[in-house]
Amino acid sequence: MSKYWSAVARGLTPYVPGEQPKLNKLVKLNTNENPYPPSPHAVAALRDELGDDGGSLRLYPDPNADRLKAAVAHHFAGFGITPAQVFVGNGSDEVLAHAFQGLLKHDRPILYPDITYSFYPVYCGLYGVDYNQVALNERFELVVEDYLRPNGGIIFPNPNAPTGCLLPLDAVERVVAGNPDSVVVVDEAYIDFGGETIPTAIALVSRYPNLLVVQTLSKSRSLAGLRVGFAVGHPDSIDALERVKNSFNSYPLDRLAIAGAVAAMEDAAHFDATRRAVMQSREALVAEMGKLGFDILPSAANFIFARHPQHAAGTLAAALRERSIIVRHFKLPRIEQFLRITIGTDAQCMALLAALREIL
Ligand SMILES: *Cc1c(COP(=O)(O)O)cnc(C)c1O
Repeated sequence: MSKYWSAVARGLTPYVPGEQPKLNKLVKLNTNENPYPPSPHAVAALRDELGDDGGSLRLYPDPNADRLKAAVAHHFAGFGITPAQVFVGNGSDEVLAHAFQGLLKHDRPILYPDITYSFYPVYCGLYGVDYNQVALNERFELVVEDYLRPNGGIIFPNPNAPTGCLLPLDAVERVVAGNPDSVVVVDEAYIDFGGETIPTAIALVSRYPNLLVVQTLSKSRSLAGLRVGFAVGHPDSIDALERVKNSFNSYPLDRLAIAGAVAAMEDAAHFDATRRAVMQSREALVAEMGKLGFDILPSAANFIFARHPQHAAGTLAAALRERSIIVRHFKLPRIEQFLRITIGTDAQCMALLAALREIL
C-alpha cells in the first residue's frame, strides 16, 4: 500500500491463483492443467503464424478474432450456433469479467453457490456487484429451487469447482427457464470431462435468450498457457460483452492465440482422445483412493475432491509436498478437510497413490 494507490486499488481483494512452482520434477496436481500436450495441429499453427522471421507479429491481430468465432460456432453447429452467438476473450476469466460488468451488474444481488470458483467474489468486488451466496446441499449439490427467487443474475460453474459435481442438463434448464428476467451464466470450464456425450448447456442457447455459456481452452484443450476462452449466448448478450471488451482492450487475443485456438477447436480427434484418457484415469484413481479409505465426491471434471475420515487435509497436503507432489487445499468453511487433486497422467496418478500409501 502507498499513498499513490487509488481507492479502488486499496479496496480490492485479488484472486490468488494456484501456485506455479519454478522447480521441475514436481508432480503438479494443483491447478487442473491437462497432463497431455495440446493438439499437434495447434502447435504447427503457432509455428506457421510466427513464420521464419516472426514478421506477422508487426501487425495487430484481428480485433474480432473472426476465424476463431467461426471455428467455435462450427464446433457447436449441431446446436445451431452461429458466429454472432460467440464471444472470445483472453482466457475465460476475462470473458467472465466482462459478463460480470456487462450482464450481471444490476440493482439486485446476483446468486451463486457458497462453495464455488473463488474468482466470482473477486469480480463482484472489482465491479461493485452485490451478491448472495446460496448454500449447496449436504452432498454439495446445487438445489434448483433455491435459485427460483428474485435476483440480478445467476452464475455457477458446471461441473462445479472445486467440488467437481455436475448439475444435470435438465436441472440447468430449470434454473434458466425459471429466471427469464435475468442472465444465467454457466461456467463450463470442465464440461468436456462430463461424459462420453458432453452435457453442455450450449444445447439450450438457441431456446433461452437469458443463457450465457462460458468455456475455456485451458483445460480440455491443454492450452492454459495460450489464454483463450469463449462465451456462447444470444447475439444481444454477445453485443454487451463486445461493448465492454471494446471499452477495455480491443485486441485481447494475439495472433498466436487466435491461430493456435482455431487449430485446437478443429482437431476433434485429439480432443476426444485426451478427454477420454483423463476420464479413464479419473475412474481408476477414484477406485484406488476409495480402497485407501478416501471419500470422493462424484467428479465430472479433470480433478477430484476428496477427504479422508482419519487424516486432516492440511497434514496430507504437507506430506505429499514433502514427496514433491502438489495438490490444492482450500482453507475455507465446509471444505477445509478436502483436497482438490488434478487428474495427471497414469504415471503421475501412480506416484500419487504410492505416496498416499506411504503416508497413510
Ligand atoms: C480454470 C477455470 C476458469 C478459467 O479458465 P481460463 O480460461 O484459464 O481463464 C474459469 N472458471 C473455472 C471454474 C475454472 O476452473
